Amino acid sequence: MTSIAYTNGRVLNQGKVEDNLAIIVTGTQIEAVIEPGHAIAEDIKTIDLEGNYVLPGFIDTQVNGGGGVLFNDSPDVAGIRAMGEAHYQFGTTGFLPTLISDELDVIRQGVSAVKEAINQGVPGVLGIHIEGPFLAHDRRGVHDAQKLQQLTHEIINALEPLRSGQTLLTLAPETVSPDMIRSLTEKGFIVCGGHSNARYEQVNAAIENGLRGFTHLFNAMSQLTAREPGMVGAALESKNTWCGIIADNHHVSPVSLKLAYRCKGPERLMLVTDAMPPVGSSQSEFSLLGKKVRVSDGVCRDPDGTLAGTALDMASAVRNIIEDTGCSIPEASCMASASPAVFLGQQADRGTIEAGKRADLVIINEKLEVLTTLIGGKVVFAGK
Ligand SMILES: [Zn+2]
Repeated sequence: MTSIAYTNGRVLNQGKVEDNLAIIVTGTQIEAVIEPGHAIAEDIKTIDLEGNYVLPGFIDTQVNGGGGVLFNDSPDVAGIRAMGEAHYQFGTTGFLPTLISDELDVIRQGVSAVKEAINQGVPGVLGIHIEGPFLAHDRRGVHDAQKLQQLTHEIINALEPLRSGQTLLTLAPETVSPDMIRSLTEKGFIVCGGHSNARYEQVNAAIENGLRGFTHLFNAMSQLTAREPGMVGAALESKNTWCGIIADNHHVSPVSLKLAYRCKGPERLMLVTDAMPPVGSSQSEFSLLGKKVRVSDGVCRDPDGTLAGTALDMASAVRNIIEDTGCSIPEASCMASASPAVFLGQQADRGTIEAGKRADLVIINEKLEVLTTLIGGKVVFAGK
């Protein structure tokens, strides 16, 4: 197997950015992280990173689209491939193609497409995120009211999670019984709360039955108020759950972002894009299940003015969270990589730069712009 030594990088190594480290990549894996002054075998090909940062590749658990493709409209391998291509340039090395509420047939197609994409080795596909249709009508946001439905035991019996990838299901806990959440997690689903009007007690009952996290914290959920802490309050209070958060400065105020960061810390917040087809394309409008959505000033809105996903990419989310919370690069990296890796149970292979993990890496400059993205040691993006 060929090895490549990436030298002279500012590498995120064990929680700290360290200068002048070398990373030896052999095949798909990181073979070693070498401190300054230690010799590198002479016969290894060397690439000088010229002092640029090397971070673990970003992991995005909510990708509705990219490159002009909406996963709901193209629940097939070609669609997933196009979405991946659109996001690699922003440092994404792992993602869950995400379906918003749709017919169960579309969900089945999406699941088989992701299964096939993983079989074919489409870079970065870690599973699927099924966001709806078991959501609260009042908190559906841009989801089509006609597509929402009640989760039943028959549906749970018929739904199978992926075996070689993760299946994340976002639901409104108040529309199901806690034992349904238990059944889903026992079947292997990762269950998150979202698009929900649940009361605090209902959310806690769901957490006790296996609810693992929350989808786009603050957006489309019951808010924290004086006497009713709601889903936001339960999410911020709980120590063992993860919160996806959209750091595009439009979905969540920088102040709310900062408060969430103080409550959850970098290990329990995950940056997500909730990206729509315009990301990585020149589109300024697209069709979302029959509604025309316009993109202006980086915001996607339907004709009623409702936010309809984002035009956000992971590199921008990383820059925004640093600016908004004042967190460090290692802390931002944690929210973009390590935290979602642990959430997905992928920490043995992904999320940090360590010998024995996959060589999923992003090389970025001083301005935190992506220069190169590697997935499994292979360059999937190399500058524009
Ligand atoms: Zn949503």
